[in-house]
Amino acid sequence: MDYERERRRKKRYREAMRNRIIAAVLLAGIIVGAIFIIKGCKKDDAPVDEDQNQPAADAVKPVDDQPKVDDELLTLVNPWNPLPDSWTPDLVTLSDGRKIDSRCYEAFEEMMDACKAAGYSPFLCSAYRTQETQQGLYDNKVQRLVDSGMSEEEAKVEAAKAVAIPGTSEHQLGLAVDIVDANMQDLTDEQENTATQKWLMANSWRYGFIHRYPNDKTDITGIIYEPWHYRYVGKDAAQDIFNRDITLEEYLGKAEH
Ligand SMILES: [Zn+2]
Repeated sequence: MDYERERRRKKRYREAMRNRIIAAVLLAGIIVGAIFIIKGCKKDDAPVDEDQNQPAADAVKPVDDQPKVDDELLTLVNPWNPLPDSWTPDLVTLSDGRKIDSRCYEAFEEMMDACKAAGYSPFLCSAYRTQETQQGLYDNKVQRLVDSGMSEEEAKVEAAKAVAIPGTSEHQLGLAVDIVDANMQDLTDEQENTATQKWLMANSWRYGFIHRYPNDKTDITGIIYEPWHYRYVGKDAAQDIFNRDITLEEYLGKAEH
């Protein structure tokens, strides 16, 4: 009996030891597996992060049909991109009765004040325009060219280079202003030689405005050189556009027509 009891006791002991070994092996396996999974996740995380960054970087580019709130300031309006139907300016009336969009009002006032404080004489000669105002300006331009001897067809094409066809003027956004030197108000190339214009061209970006129609970029903008026309795009975009010496079209990747 003792022998049999001893034999069973040893058997139970062996089974217990075997179970412990199995448990230890299983536990070790779980730990190793867990370490592998954790390390694996860390390793996988890096490319996942990079992938996540790419859409974020792409998101900076405006989406045509549904611009983000911030991107509204980058809305492209030119001969090939008419004013969006959904565009609703939020207008503020200036002291001279002209109107400007509230999104650029403070920046505009700051820029004008800084220009005056620097000793110059900026004068606002155009800001927000309605469709009707733009139509009137365009029709007048066409008529003047017809009067000078052009055919109506030629006049319409030529007029559009200087006065945007109604529906394609940045002034209808409420984010564009024409500023001249109060002492020389002609809308000609000579405007660039005025002290006021030199200051504006060099400093407007600080206030979020860009010199919109440079002399050598007419093919891209579709508009002749206009040293007086400034467009609000927000400070970050304005600084980038100024530093890179590019147009809004190039900034948005839409220089090709
Ligand atoms: Zn203008």
